[in-house]
Amino acid sequence: MRLSRRFKSLVIVFGILFLTLCFQFYVEYPPIQRASGIWINEEQYNLYKIQTVFDEGSMTLKSNQTITFKNNFDSSFENVYFHIYPNIFKKKNNVPFEEGDMEFVYPNGFNPGWIKINNVKENNKLIYHKVMGDGETVLRVTPQKAIEIGEERTFEINFEVKLPNVLARMGYGDNTVNITNWYPILAVYDQQGWNLDPYYAIGDPFYSEVAEYEVTIDIPSEYILATTGNIESKKEKDTITTYKIKTEGVRDFGMILSKDFDVKGVKVEDTTIQSYTIKGEKKEVALKVAVDSLEVFNRIFGKYPYKQLSVVACNFSLGGMEYPNLVMIGDGLYTMEEDFPLEYVIAHEIAHQWWYGIVGNNEVTEPWLDEALTEYSTLLYFEEKYGTHIKQQIQEKMIKAQYENFLDLKADRGEGIMRSLAEFDNSLEYSSIVYSRGALFIDHLRQEMGDEAFRKAIKEYYSEYKFKNATTENFYMILQKNSQKDLKSTFEEWLNVKIE
Ligand SMILES: [Zn+2]
Repeated sequence: MRLSRRFKSLVIVFGILFLTLCFQFYVEYPPIQRASGIWINEEQYNLYKIQTVFDEGSMTLKSNQTITFKNNFDSSFENVYFHIYPNIFKKKNNVPFEEGDMEFVYPNGFNPGWIKINNVKENNKLIYHKVMGDGETVLRVTPQKAIEIGEERTFEINFEVKLPNVLARMGYGDNTVNITNWYPILAVYDQQGWNLDPYYAIGDPFYSEVAEYEVTIDIPSEYILATTGNIESKKEKDTITTYKIKTEGVRDFGMILSKDFDVKGVKVEDTTIQSYTIKGEKKEVALKVAVDSLEVFNRIFGKYPYKQLSVVACNFSLGGMEYPNLVMIGDGLYTMEEDFPLEYVIAHEIAHQWWYGIVGNNEVTEPWLDEALTEYSTLLYFEEKYGTHIKQQIQEKMIKAQYENFLDLKADRGEGIMRSLAEFDNSLEYSSIVYSRGALFIDHLRQEMGDEAFRKAIKEYYSEYKFKNATTENFYMILQKNSQKDLKSTFEEWLNVKIE
């Protein structure tokens, strides 16, 4: 999610007269993606064991990772593929930002980030690997022999990451070191084969399976660590502290470090919420919103299944970003006079714990599925907390207004909400269609189905697809099952898909 960008978008809508218009007309409906992600259960989770040492002077992470890959699929594999996202920050002409954002995200000028794969081993023997793909963001590993159906194999990847000085998901600023999308993460193999999509500048271009992680990190002792998973132990020796972290089934692993964090925690049901603020700025507000969000979503969707959730103020230019058990919140939101933008972004990112985190989906080909539902969940948070009239006001004055202003620019290519990231020209189009029109679509479904049926369906969607990857078709089926009305034409019309 990217609220500041959305606020910026509104400014653009009102203030700038010129916009490149790109009209492309599609004659046919794209078919709805029929295939679900491969369903896996707990015993089948892949296991990542990562040992890493953070060096502050060089802003690098020297790491060794073993990954146990379980072939639960119906074919054998000659190769296994990983995303190595840090390389997207390597070359200036390839970084995942829009032209107009460059100065803002690189306040000190361009500074590269990258991942270097030193070697890959299987049973202590070097095996062949190749760095490939758009921006060198894919790693292909060739095991000693093909991985047969039902087989389990462990690979060891030695790598080094250089963090860029950029206010992005991965990077560092004056106060925080953002360590996200930083290690080789297995690509998803599904009915489409291996998903090796590049790192798009628009949206959150990620797609992964739930896995287990055991991570050890060494950091200078003056840093405070916010992380996915649970800290099992913390040992200080000389000036370095070693943290051992273990997860409970998550689809990614991120960490944020800072010397300036003020940490405040509180227990909500079985979860400890920790609010990390920079020097304590708005710490009470942030913690209260986090607590309320967790309570609301636990009640209306189903229980958050993890022991901890960290809400972390970061040097970050995109508003907010979700990782399992950890949400990044742009530090600019903590210094605004108004609390509303901070509240909106925290509630939104926490809603992503349900939609993206626990129920996953392919955020490249079907970004609307988690993003529209998350945007609407944010409205539900305001509705539950402040009443229907407040929700209605935000929906009308912010969400609907943004979409209508966007339409006035005639910048939309005129198709539905379900498009892949590659089908958007810019983030204004993306946020207007996926967030705003997407949330209006979910609201429309609620009106069509009736409140009770809608709430029941969302709960069922959550419990059915928890720890799995869902598709638009899966979502449709559950809503239709709970609806007296036929929703087929509504889905087809708003999403521009064909449902068979
Ligand atoms: Zn979002």
